[in-house]
Amino acid sequence: MDKEIFDFFNTDLQFIHGVGPVLASKFNDVLGGRRVLDFLLHIPSYVRPREILDSVMNAQVGDTITISVMVKSHRKGGVFKGRRRPTQIICADKFAAPVTIQFFNVNYLDYWTEKLPIGQWRIISGKLDFSNRDGAIINHPEFIELPENAFKIPTHQAIYPSGEGLTQKTFSNVRDQIFKIIHERINADNTSANMMEFVDALEHVHFPETNDDLAPNGTFIMKLAYCELFAHQSAIAINRSIRKAQTNKRAVRAKKYDLVDKFYGLLPFRLTDAQQRTIDEIFADFNRPVPMMRLVQGDVGSGKTMVAMAAMVKMAESGAQSVLLAPTDTLAQQHFAKIKPMCDKLGLVCDVLTGRDKGAIRREKLISLKSGRTKIAIGTHALFSEDVIYKDLGLVVIDEQHRFGVAQRTAMRSKGDNPDMLALSATPIPRTLSMTVYGDMDISIINEKPAGRLPIKTTKLPVERVGALLGRIAPQIENGAKVFWVCPLVEESETTDMMAAQSRFEELNKYFHGTGLCHGQMDKKTRDKVMAEFADTNSKMRVLVSTTVIEVGIDVPSATIMVIENAERFGLAALHQLRGRVGRGSQQSYCILLYGNNISPDGLKRLDVLCETDDGFVIAEQDLMMRGVGELLGTKQSGWIQYHFVNYREHRDLFKLAQNASMNNNIAENNWAKQLRNIFDCSTIAGA
Ligand code: ADP
Ligand code: MG
Repeated sequence: MDKEIFDFFNTDLQFIHGVGPVLASKFNDVLGGRRVLDFLLHIPSYVRPREILDSVMNAQVGDTITISVMVKSHRKGGVFKGRRRPTQIICADKFAAPVTIQFFNVNYLDYWTEKLPIGQWRIISGKLDFSNRDGAIINHPEFIELPENAFKIPTHQAIYPSGEGLTQKTFSNVRDQIFKIIHERINADNTSANMMEFVDALEHVHFPETNDDLAPNGTFIMKLAYCELFAHQSAIAINRSIRKAQTNKRAVRAKKYDLVDKFYGLLPFRLTDAQQRTIDEIFADFNRPVPMMRLVQGDVGSGKTMVAMAAMVKMAESGAQSVLLAPTDTLAQQHFAKIKPMCDKLGLVCDVLTGRDKGAIRREKLISLKSGRTKIAIGTHALFSEDVIYKDLGLVVIDEQHRFGVAQRTAMRSKGDNPDMLALSATPIPRTLSMTVYGDMDISIINEKPAGRLPIKTTKLPVERVGALLGRIAPQIENGAKVFWVCPLVEESETTDMMAAQSRFEELNKYFHGTGLCHGQMDKKTRDKVMAEFADTNSKMRVLVSTTVIEVGIDVPSATIMVIENAERFGLAALHQLRGRVGRGSQQSYCILLYGNNISPDGLKRLDVLCETDDGFVIAEQDLMMRGVGELLGTKQSGWIQYHFVNYREHRDLFKLAQNASMNNNIAENNWAKQLRNIFDCSTIAGA
């Protein structure tokens, strides 16, 4: 059943009439895929009414307008004195205001003369542009119709989120083609009722009549969101039942805690209650014959590394090996520098393995891993290279877990015999959602900061007052404070990012000699070197200007000031993460959020939330409530699943419904659930 429809869903868009390979690859850029299905899952963002205007005077540049015009004259395009000129059709609206229609790359004046003869009225529709020479301009109108055929121009139009080289007209053409074929297939096929309903809902949102049809609580969006959640939740349920059926012979028996106690004795501080509770939960998992799959959620600076360390020590005591997987070289080295000395005191062999290790050194490290001598290995993805063999891998710790893909987690897990997994995340997810967002994982929450930490004082400041800010931080720098200065991030272009950071760097370097600079266009080695110099307490580098490339988990306890420029462009979660790079020592830390002139009320509200609270869970909750107000930078990094139809804020009840529906025993056999899992690619479910 439904095979015909599925085959069509998986068809490459280039085979749709009028598309071809070039357009298909443009679609690929926008849709993140080039199948018919990818198109179907990309829905319009709003509906635009098209009323026929009498005059361009009533419209704004950039608007898509529909207007009656009379053709006045023709001007042939071509190449003149080496410059390409468009073909122009000069017209006037009902109030005699000039409107010029332009066609680029077209030399066939005849064609347009025929379509737009002088002295005749036409209804045209397109995007309004303006130039000083020609006044109002419409380039390549989407519609050109005789007045009596005005009905052919849709009175409302679904507007798709688009990208380079794709017009709304292309979107609607492709959409029309796709649904035409779907209808043919449905008629020819013994399509299931579920599929009929699903396709029907899709059709309604692709042909919306009003914006209500596209609202999160609209009937059809709700229906699709439920399908999407049901797909995900059933995948999670299946993962869970598979995992619960696995065994793990390494169950660590809780006879003695000698080594772990010794480890506690080495710590220069007392573990917080939350850290201790989390460690207890992990040890309890170790005692069960089922592989552990636990996520530790704790705000930046809550001390997750030591929790992981306790787990690795306990594992070593049982004779098995552990790995600690970090997303970058720098972080891996930093963890190693902290953990190695403790391991030495505990008599455990600890090693670091990253892409930097080559030749004989690497070979030696691999032998030590294979023999089982190395008990704790810290590193990057190099830890799961094909030729790395472990004698008895018992525990995989993944730091900053959202930075790793499912494939990488699976590769790591396959290095042992159902090893226990411990994921660390600094992205608090509101409790109501954590189960469903993170999938099949047990969760420990570290909701407490180490004693003696002062809350970071956060203020917001318009960017014009940057001079006053410099005056305020200068004496602190004099007294040894270090400053992170994060520069505006411009989504479209990495080059612009670099320039913004570059010019701020040059300015700051005049005040504070030896300022560092770090951005995405520098090679990794240089970047690492700058980071290391900044982290070194004795270095002269007091200020580090950077784009957001600075590492998430980087620990520079002497950094007490964080300045974020154009803070309004970031999402709450991203700002909170950035801020978390200060306030890691016992000194008072500060975060200054600089904002630009055109900050929106929502943007201001976000900054206020940051100024008021330092609690990651409260911020996550607020983030959820404010979500949906446009794309924010840094959301991808925050570890949230990017759904097509689901809205975190509006569909909370659906999460529960879908979860309950997925709890029945034979969900793996349910055919429709299986199909939905195919439609909403569920291979990225955490724990899968
Ligand atoms: P994160 O949870 O962000 O990974 P880290 O593990 O890097 O945090 O810990 C941040 C800092 O706090 C480190 O310098 C660490 O040594 C220190 N730390 C961890 N636990 C405690 C504690 N219980 N008391 C005081 N300091 C602690
Ligand atoms: Mg960390």
